[in-house]
Amino acid sequence: MSDKKTLLLVGGGHAHVEVLRLLAEKPLGDADIALFDPSPSVWYSGMVPGVIAGHYQPAEAKVNLWALCQRARVRFIEAAITNVDPALQRVYTAAGDRHFYDVVSFDVGSVSRSVPASPGAYTVPVKPIDALLTAINEREAIRSSSLAIQIIGGGAAALEVALGLAHRWRGAPEKKIGIVSGGVLLQGMPRAARKAALAACAAARVTVRESTPVQLIEPTRLVLSSGEFIPSQVTLLATGPAPAPLIAEIEVTKTDDGSIAVNSGLQSRSHKNLFAAGDCAGNPKASYPKSGVFAVRQGPVLYENLRRAIRGGDLQSYDHKAAALALISLGEQRAIAVRNGFALTGAWAWRWKDRIDRAWMAKYE
Ligand SMILES: Cc1cc2nc3c(=O)[nH]c(=O)nc-3n(C[C@H](O)[C@H](O)[C@H](O)COP(=O)(O)OP(=O)(O)OC[C@H]3O[C@@H](n4cnc5c(N)ncnc54)[C@H](O)[C@@H]3O)c2cc1C
Repeated sequence: MSDKKTLLLVGGGHAHVEVLRLLAEKPLGDADIALFDPSPSVWYSGMVPGVIAGHYQPAEAKVNLWALCQRARVRFIEAAITNVDPALQRVYTAAGDRHFYDVVSFDVGSVSRSVPASPGAYTVPVKPIDALLTAINEREAIRSSSLAIQIIGGGAAALEVALGLAHRWRGAPEKKIGIVSGGVLLQGMPRAARKAALAACAAARVTVRESTPVQLIEPTRLVLSSGEFIPSQVTLLATGPAPAPLIAEIEVTKTDDGSIAVNSGLQSRSHKNLFAAGDCAGNPKASYPKSGVFAVRQGPVLYENLRRAIRGGDLQSYDHKAAALALISLGEQRAIAVRNGFALTGAWAWRWKDRIDRAWMAKYE
């Protein structure tokens, strides 16, 4: 019998993609490693708004997990994990297959938070991204007919999706796009960023309703708390991240928002052989926003700690640096650059973002 340890990676999110790249460079010969994901490729979040706007082909914004696994000598298993038993150290697929692990790591992302106003059937979440792009592609088929799309949410994702759609359908004035936000647009961002966002929406004819909670979502309209009714044949939810369904199933210590609670080593606070990174993890002692940028930054620490969990040794700490550069696309090839409370806008920022994103993708090709 082999004395190799078994390491299972669940979900090919941004942190695991980096773990795979490092495994290709520095293999762990003493471990059998498998990656589970229902899809052989994963979206790179930074380029999704550019895909919606039509600046990139979908293939340019996807990391090929299967090929990356080949290079890293990791078995790729095209399946979603539907349950986990941390006591028995097993994960289960929908088909009923079970897989034992010595060490397991989760990077399964998140889903859009549901809103009380929605009975559920009349909305399209912006996460997972595949569902969003399928819904957009379906609307392309009826491109010439009039259509009202409302995006509920007020963060960068809501803005980028709205302006991306406005750019994609710029020659189709019969497509009406709006943002409805319970708070202000880009809450917490510098004034200059909010001003540039509102100006970009006005120029692209995207209507913005701020501080207007939605009371009810009906099949073809929204009922707002102000009493107003607004048409919406497609209602997109950009309401922020909520735990993916699998995470709700796992019996481990969770954060208040239902993510897997981890310590600074990205290790579960209740199970030493269970790790988590990206949107599905949270450190109650060092909270940071859920974004692809932070998932990417966790990758090298996660790789090192999975290696140490197998071979022994103290865990490294993920040192969260709050001052991340945020580059927010404005549909056309312009972007807002935000860092340390300052914001600047221009075509140069989009070119900068494009260079960063393409360089990131090139690392995994
Ligand atoms: C429109 C939009 C634009 C965004 N733009 C940006 C941006 O510009 N910059 C930024 O930093 N962030 C951005 N974000 C946020 C970003 O998408 C997420 O924070 C990021 O994708 C999280 O990465 P992750 O590694 O946690 O998981 P993900 O990258 O979401 O990957 C999760 C993976 O897990 C797989 N998976 C899911 N469930 C299972 C399961 N049960 N079993 C096995 N595999 C599973 C999925 O198939 C997927 O491959 C944006 C989000 C949206 C919606």
